Amino acid sequence: KLFNELQELKGNIRVFCRVRPFLPGQGAPNTVVEYVGEDGELVVTNPTKPGKDGLRQFRFNKVYNPNATQAEVFSDIKPLVRSVLDGYNVCIFAYGQTGSGKTYTMSGPDGSSEEDWGVNYRALNDLFKISQSRKGNINYEVGVQMVEIYNEQVLDLLTEDNSQKKYPYHYLNSWILSTTSQNGLAVPDASMYPVTSTSDVITLMEIGLQNRAVGATALNERSSRSHSIVTVHVRGKDLKTGSVLYGNLHLVDLAGSERVDRSEVTGDRLREAQHINKSLSSLGDVIFSLASKSSHIPYRNSKLTQILQSSLGGRAKTLMFVQLNPDATSYSESMSTLKFAERVS
Ligand code: ADP
Ligand code: MG
Repeated sequence: KLFNELQELKGNIRVFCRVRPFLPGQGAPNTVVEYVGEDGELVVTNPTKPGKDGLRQFRFNKVYNPNATQAEVFSDIKPLVRSVLDGYNVCIFAYGQTGSGKTYTMSGPDGSSEEDWGVNYRALNDLFKISQSRKGNINYEVGVQMVEIYNEQVLDLLTEDNSQKKYPYHYLNSWILSTTSQNGLAVPDASMYPVTSTSDVITLMEIGLQNRAVGATALNERSSRSHSIVTVHVRGKDLKTGSVLYGNLHLVDLAGSERVDRSEVTGDRLREAQHINKSLSSLGDVIFSLASKSSHIPYRNSKLTQILQSSLGGRAKTLMFVQLNPDATSYSESMSTLKFAERVS
């Protein structure tokens, strides 16, 4: 419902803001998030400017308070996810500084139980459920790809080369060709695996995460400096009419948006920071151009926007989770995150 209400007015871009709770052992909570309103309202305070002058108000399509559960968040985006089965392309991002809860929202915490599952697992789970219920009318096939963008290079996270595990499936080239619409196949060389159940998906995601970690040996915490993209391709064949529809869903855990002090880093670290900066600002530019109905959409400026092109703009639906760390020490990063979000919403 949230999605359809404003569709006419604002195009197909939504911004949901999620504030993560204080973590045990984080010390005395000193929050900058003053108020979370039912109407998507958020008030933050500048810790160095007490009183009215330090208050800033933002408004998004939805704001979650820190106690919001994974199930609550997913119930708001369920219709969006399901529209993939009707042939829509959908893109869901998490944007924010490292430690703000991007991975929590998209995947869930490490070793998560079903209750803690993030958007990725819930989305696939729901797609399987709905496709089962339509079985007599539409025959759905679902395939998954998983890539990482690091320093403007696209790395296949489901390739066998750097995997320590054996794959449960075979790479089915013909399946891909028969299953994917031309413009839906953004990374044609990346391995794609057919999946039929949530446990298939869990197996694949584990392999992807493992590959991501294996490549990171020398670089600590590389996951915060690369974008990871899970792409779900759906093909549905109407059993009565024989017509076929395609949809895809991109689930994106973006690199940390924190700014790096150029005077303090050099070499690899500076190069990483510049690439992240460039791709996040390209993403902002594309969404901003779409929201302001510009005639030129600058997709070609980064690998990220090239890969996501099919699910940004046109009939596609885009949702950005803006993630905030509530702590006062994160105030300036939170403000820069909120300004990014404000520009695209
Ligand atoms: P990011 O991916 O943005 O770097 P994480 O998702 O890793 O951040 O979150 C940082 C820490 O905060 C993790 O320990 C995570 O489990 C915890 N966390 C994040 N969001 C929540 C939440 N909504 N509820 C409980 N814990 C959370
Ligand atoms: Mg993360």
